[in-house]
Amino acid sequence: MLNSRLAAVETASKHMFNETTEVNAERAIHIFNKNVFSISKMRDYLPKPTFVELKSAIDEGRQISRELADFIAQAMKTWALENGATHYTHWFQPLTGSTAEKHDAFFEPDSDGSAIEKFNADALVQQEPDASSFPNGGIRNTFEARGYTAWDPSSPAFIFETGAGKTLCIPTVFVSYTGESLDYKAPLLKAIASIDKAATDVAQYFDKAVTKVNASLGIEQEYFLVDLALYNARPDLQLTGRTLFGHMSAKGQQLEDHYFGAIPERVLAYMVDLENEALKLGIPLKTRHNEVAPSQFECAPMFEEINLAIDHNQLLMNLMEQVAIRHSFKVLLHEKPYSGVNGSGKHNNWSLITNTGVNLLSPGKTPKNNLMFLTFFVNTIKAVFEHADLLRASIASHSNDHRLGANEAPPAIISIFLGSQLDEILEEVESARVAKKVKADANLWHGIPKIPDLKLDNTDRNRTSPFAFTGNKFEFRAVGSSANSALPMTILNAIVATQLIEFKNEVDKQIKKGTKKDLAILNVVRKYIKDSKAIRFEGNGYSEEWEIEAGTRGLSNIKSTPKALDVYVKPESLELFETLGIFSRRESEARHEILLENFFKKLQIEARVIGDVVTSQIAPACIVYQNQLIENVKGLKDLGLNKEAYSSQLNYIERISKHVNLILELAEEMRQARKKANTIDDIREKAIAYDEVVKPFFDEIRYNVNKLEKIVDDAKWPLPKLRELLFIH
Ligand code: ADP
Ligand code: MG
Repeated sequence: MLNSRLAAVETASKHMFNETTEVNAERAIHIFNKNVFSISKMRDYLPKPTFVELKSAIDEGRQISRELADFIAQAMKTWALENGATHYTHWFQPLTGSTAEKHDAFFEPDSDGSAIEKFNADALVQQEPDASSFPNGGIRNTFEARGYTAWDPSSPAFIFETGAGKTLCIPTVFVSYTGESLDYKAPLLKAIASIDKAATDVAQYFDKAVTKVNASLGIEQEYFLVDLALYNARPDLQLTGRTLFGHMSAKGQQLEDHYFGAIPERVLAYMVDLENEALKLGIPLKTRHNEVAPSQFECAPMFEEINLAIDHNQLLMNLMEQVAIRHSFKVLLHEKPYSGVNGSGKHNNWSLITNTGVNLLSPGKTPKNNLMFLTFFVNTIKAVFEHADLLRASIASHSNDHRLGANEAPPAIISIFLGSQLDEILEEVESARVAKKVKADANLWHGIPKIPDLKLDNTDRNRTSPFAFTGNKFEFRAVGSSANSALPMTILNAIVATQLIEFKNEVDKQIKKGTKKDLAILNVVRKYIKDSKAIRFEGNGYSEEWEIEAGTRGLSNIKSTPKALDVYVKPESLELFETLGIFSRRESEARHEILLENFFKKLQIEARVIGDVVTSQIAPACIVYQNQLIENVKGLKDLGLNKEAYSSQLNYIERISKHVNLILELAEEMRQARKKANTIDDIREKAIAYDEVVKPFFDEIRYNVNKLEKIVDDAKWPLPKLRELLFIH
């Protein structure tokens, strides 16, 4: 029988030039938002007073009345049917990490045999999906077992098109019968409300016209592409999203030729197709380029309001997979599909923008704006300093563990890079000199150093920092490529909101005591600069020296997920989330449990795949080749040749024996370790056992398999090799 790997390689090459590389010339402007029930379409499809009411409800985050919902449901249905949708679904983001949908048909047979349309306010506003199979951290075991999805009017409905037809998707939150959130979106919306309130209150020190602050987010998404046929011949990629075996090809990323290289034509065709599909769904994809590793790429939309940016990123990930199949590719969103080349992240570019159109993180042109900028800038730094462990927890996952602290950036140590200009300005503001100048100068503003125009080139040099200031936004780079950004962004907005509330309390206290407002602000800003110094680091985040220095600065360096997650259930965190109304104690505990469960289950799957592939594919292939060598040696012996004539063969026979024996033994030992871990009841202990006892077998087995890969007949090797997976032509 033909080796499945060779069959895959054969198929892969056949696909190479089959694909259409024709660039879709349709102008972006014509297709943008084509499949979205956008504000402008609402205006067209709704009676004017209804539209006005809806718009203000969305802008102000007010609840939408039943009557209004009925109008909207009618309008949405009309638009969807006109555009060929046959089904509708509530689209939500359960804690599984992907999105979920349950489709219902718009039409239902009537008793007299005709069909009636079935979509009204009830169907729009609330649904009850069969939720028993979504993670709930015990919430639904003790309470009523139902879960509800509820419409989020702040994110527009859209039509998702697949080969099987068109479906109207309605973005929703997912909550339990008793109101506990079971998804990513509900807490995010609460965190957005918290940061809005806290930032607005502080912004009013500077400008009374500010009545709303929106968090904005631009997400850069890194990914790998691999040929679909080759992917299908790798059970490890199929089941875990990463290669669990395989030695690095002779050429990896060492020549650094991919990053600036031309995008292969076949990949470009995929990107163009993806961009067109994304534009139709209102996702403003702007940039595309190669990344550092071979077959690694990046795409990034223009930044948007944070809730929409996150929905769009979730949708984009679905689209990427869907469009890839058309081009006989598989998209790998895993943080580390291949050991030995760079992993993938999802850079979260975050800023705060007021209703008056001012970016609070953009250094101002006037001295007064400078103080406002400094206030928000320094409060963010202080928030990250105070709650670095929460931020670390927010990006923890079994897959991101391969990037964080695994000698590849960004490190598990949370630190902030500001760039030398801003670093110096903070030093100056902190120094006594400024205080004197400010006191001496009746006009406070002139005492504050002017922030020069920042050039992006000057600010974006340090790629080793997990959290960097890049001109007019902070960029959280440690987020994993497969993550839902909602979690890290919930945490970031929550900690900055808490910090701003505390800031306002301190400033108000000083004002009450008679200090002038501006001086009070500056006093607290200066104190914060001093207090949060340890989190600022301008050097190489990947270096060993930094790890040591961070230790002396008292910064945490938590390398594994189960331990990083501990902070979620610390009393301070429970209180922080409860005070802001983002997570109740029960919700925090439930999430902690879900994340731990997800962690060990993923390792459990990896362990099983390794066991299966080693025993049923790799060992048998090695034995077949070894038998061939044995035949060869016997034959040479029969010919009367002496031992020197076949000493290399004997050596190979021995080496194959050694490594095959080892991998089979290790696989069995790993199975025993897994069985033992499975008996542990405490979920944290179980996750730690998987991490510390089961997982170390993975690398040991990989090491021995890779030795075999190098000496066994290439034609007999059962898995596509990394050199085949990594290079797209
Ligand atoms: P780089 O690779 O240099 O970090 P990119 O241009 O690939 O930069 O991505 C930058 C991302 O940051 C884009 O999504 C962009 O829209 C977004 N962005 C720019 N300004 C802001 C801002 N004020 N707030 C949030 N995101 C922003
Ligand atoms: Mg970036």
